Amino acid sequence: MIIATGGVTYPQTGCSIDNYSLTGEPLTKIKYGLSPLITKEDLSGIAGITLNNVECSYKKSKVKGNVLISHVGLTGPGIIDLSSRISKDIDYDILDDDYDLSCEINIDLMPDFTREELKNKFNEDFQTKGKTQIKNYLKSLLTNNFIEYFLNRINIAPDTQLSRINKKSKNRLVENLKRFTLEIVDFNRDLAKVTIGGIKLENINPKTMESKITPNLYFAGEILDLDGPTGGYNLKIAFSTGYLAGLSAGELM
Ligand SMILES: Cc1cc2nc3c(=O)[nH]c(=O)nc-3n(C[C@H](O)[C@H](O)[C@H](O)COP(=O)(O)OP(=O)(O)OC[C@H]3O[C@@H](n4cnc5c(N)ncnc54)[C@H](O)[C@@H]3O)c2cc1C
Repeated sequence: MIIATGGVTYPQTGCSIDNYSLTGEPLTKIKYGLSPLITKEDLSGIAGITLNNVECSYKKSKVKGNVLISHVGLTGPGIIDLSSRISKDIDYDILDDDYDLSCEINIDLMPDFTREELKNKFNEDFQTKGKTQIKNYLKSLLTNNFIEYFLNRINIAPDTQLSRINKKSKNRLVENLKRFTLEIVDFNRDLAKVTIGGIKLENINPKTMESKITPNLYFAGEILDLDGPTGGYNLKIAFSTGYLAGLSAGELM
């Protein structure tokens, strides 16, 4: 018998939490992977905006990519990949009744500039373009529709002229461009694209996908403790382990 019933996330695919217990195999902790994130901050007013080529970080994990702002929080490749790293870091199990997935992430809105380079740029530009309003000046650096939200968040009036921005505000501007913090209250659990964790790999023969505990029982795909980032890695896992399990089980017939 080959069990290839997938993970437990994205229930529309027909998966079920019961499949794990039916296998009788020891399990790792089961977690959400590749998931959009829900923020404490209300981003609904700027939903639909994409922050291009930003760097999202959680503790020491960093992922560069586009971030899409949704009605409830954040999604897009940069966030989806980071979510798996957050999930692996937090100690919880979907199979438990109660757990807390809140955390803090930072977005480097200008990853191609160091703080020093930004400070030097602003010192020069704020003198030569003194009459320009900050909201217009930032158009060359940030996604247009994000600028007013960003400036309001950091307490700089969007129509302030550059020459009127004092040193403290300038430092706040640089700091938030390099480290824009958002509080995550939860994963958008129904939209997690992959399940992290599953059947423990130490109990599976990697040459055949057969269980070391139950002879003639094979496993393939997402039900195993295997997951990858976005980019086809999870499909590759499913195809390769499925192929191997099929070949191995077929040899018995
Ligand atoms: C929206 C979405 C987008 C994704 N995008 C990507 C991507 O771009 N790249 C990538 O690599 N991965 C992606 N993934 C993940 C990838 O699709 C999965 O990792 C992969 O399909 C897992 O394959 P699987 O065969 O193990 O499980 P599944 O594809 O989930 O198949 C399991 C099947 O078993 C059936 N089943 C469940 N329980 C039972 C039972 N008790 N009896 C009989 N049948 C049962 C289910 O109905 C289902 O048909 C995405 C997932 C989602 C949800």
